[in-house]
Amino acid sequence: MSEHIPLRGKKDPNVFFDQEAFFRDHEPRPPRVLPLRYFPDPILHKKCEPIPEVTQEIRQLSYDMILTMMKGEGIGLAAPQVGRAIQLFVADIEWPERKVDSRSYVFINPTVEPIGPTIKSVEGCLSFPGERFEEKRVNKVKVKAIGLDGQPFEMEAEDTLAVVIQHEMDHLNGWTVASNLSWMKRDLLKKAILKRLRNRR
Ligand SMILES: [Zn+2]
Repeated sequence: MSEHIPLRGKKDPNVFFDQEAFFRDHEPRPPRVLPLRYFPDPILHKKCEPIPEVTQEIRQLSYDMILTMMKGEGIGLAAPQVGRAIQLFVADIEWPERKVDSRSYVFINPTVEPIGPTIKSVEGCLSFPGERFEEKRVNKVKVKAIGLDGQPFEMEAEDTLAVVIQHEMDHLNGWTVASNLSWMKRDLLKKAILKRLRNRR
């Protein structure tokens, strides 16, 4: 999910966050920006597989995804968006303000339970560059997931973070913001995104 949150101060495209502080724990190589998958890539419509074990590869993938999310100016990113149909997503609604010492969330094999009232939200998605979609969400959720340390955790999230979690959870179920559009609208969307990506290069 992406949202344009104004960055405080001058934006330096090379310094989105303090990598040393962020990766001090157990990171043998610096994170990489991964290529994004865009609509209508079929991987975006696959149901993702659970992750049997939190390995070093999964931890590195998570870090790569956090960096990729930040470089793309997103606030959430799911594994299928970087070509992996596995149950993993990252979220960080605060980094555009914070920029250093990120405390991004990593959710592995998550389940999400709605516990708040329904709201309408307008959402962007890194796999749908330049597009906005109106979605129905709830404003509060309870999440159960595995963390990067391999341990299960539970948390409640509200407002923007709750919406991001629901959006990313949809990705893990192979559902995207385009899934309930008519094929004609999807076709138009496909053309608009292709054109936008071509103009970017
Ligand atoms: Zn998305």
